[in-house]
Amino acid sequence: MYELIIIGAGLAGMTAAVYAARKKLNTLLISYDVGGQVLTTAGIENYMGYQFIEGSELMHKFEEQVKQFSLDMRTGQGVSSLSQIDGGFEVSTEKGETYQAKAVIFATGKRPRQLNILGEKKLLGRGVTYCAICDGPLFAGEKVAVIGGGNSALEAADDMIKIAEHVYLVSLTPLTGDQILIDKVTNASNLSIFLEHQVLEIKGEDRVEGIKIRDLKSKQEREFNIGGVFIEIGLIPNSEVIKEVVTLNRLREVEVNCANETGVLGLFAAGDVTNVPEKQVVVAAGEGAKAALQAHRYLQRLK
Ligand SMILES: Cc1cc2nc3c(=O)[nH]c(=O)nc-3n(C[C@H](O)[C@H](O)[C@H](O)COP(=O)(O)OP(=O)(O)OC[C@H]3O[C@@H](n4cnc5c(N)ncnc54)[C@H](O)[C@@H]3O)c2cc1C
Repeated sequence: MYELIIIGAGLAGMTAAVYAARKKLNTLLISYDVGGQVLTTAGIENYMGYQFIEGSELMHKFEEQVKQFSLDMRTGQGVSSLSQIDGGFEVSTEKGETYQAKAVIFATGKRPRQLNILGEKKLLGRGVTYCAICDGPLFAGEKVAVIGGGNSALEAADDMIKIAEHVYLVSLTPLTGDQILIDKVTNASNLSIFLEHQVLEIKGEDRVEGIKIRDLKSKQEREFNIGGVFIEIGLIPNSEVIKEVVTLNRLREVEVNCANETGVLGLFAAGDVTNVPEKQVVVAAGEGAKAALQAHRYLQRLK
C-alpha cells in the first residue's frame, strides 16, 4: 500500500508530487498526460520567475523537477474509479490496474465544455477543435468560426484573425471577456461578430463544411461555409471519478476547505477541479503544495 496516490499530473498534481517526495512519502502519481491544460497554452506571462514561458516548456521543467525525486509514476492512463477501503483508498485505472493508498490527492483539473450539437462529435478532429492555440495553424487561409464570448474565445479569435481568411465569432451572450481583449479583436476587418446567436449545427460529411446559427431575438437562421470550428465555451471539472465519494457543488467542483480537505478523512483535492476561486497556474501550484503538506500531516497523525 502506498502512503499517497496523487491523481493528475498538471500543475497541482506535479507540485504536490515534489512536496510529497521531499517529505519522503511513498507516493504514486497517476495521470493521462504530464502537463495538463498548460500544454494547450501558447505562453504564460504570470508565473513568477518567468517573464514569459511557453506552456509546454514550463510543464517540461515541472516534469524534470518531479523526476529528480524518487516516486512512482503511471502516465498514459486515467483513473476510472476511486473508493474507500479499510485503512485508505483503492484506485483503479482504465487499463485495469489497481492501487491502494492511505491518502489521496485528487488533482484532475478541467476539460473543455462541449456544445452538444449535431455534427460536433462526428467532425471532432476533422475541423472541430477545442484548442485554437494547438490547432489554429492548421486552418491558415481558411474561413473559420470561433464559438464563445469569454477570454478563451477572444484569444482564439485574436490568434485566428492573423492567419485565417475570415473569422466568424459567435456568442450566445454579449462578450464577457476582458475589455483589453475585446478592444484587440473587434476592429479586425476579417472578423464578423454574432452576439446572442446560438449555434444549431456543424455541417459536413468527412470534414467541417459549414455552420448554422440562429439569432436568439429575431429567430433568423443563417449558414456560413467554413473549414474549422473552434469551440471555446469554457471548461468543466474532471470530477466524475470522485463523485461517488464526495458531494460536488453545483459547478461539479470538489468542495475543499483551506487545508484542501474534502470532508473525507485522507482524501484531499487541489487545483482547477476544486471550488477554490481563480483558476490560475500559480494558484494551482500553490494548492498542490498545500494539499501535499496537509496529506503529510494527516499521515503523520496515523503513525
Ligand atoms: C487556454 C488556456 C490558457 C490559460 N492561460 C493561463 C495563463 O496565461 N495564466 C494562468 O495563470 N493560467 C492560465 N490558464 C489556467 C491554468 O492552465 C490552470 O489553472 C492550471 O493548468 C490548472 O492546473 P491543474 O493541475 O489544476 O489542472 P490541469 O492542468 O487540468 O491538470 C489536470 C491533470 O489531471 C489529469 N487527469 C484528468 N482526469 C484524470 C483521470 N481521471 N485520471 C488521471 N488523470 C487525470 C490530466 O491528464 C492532467 O494531467 C489557462 C488555461 C487554459 C485552458
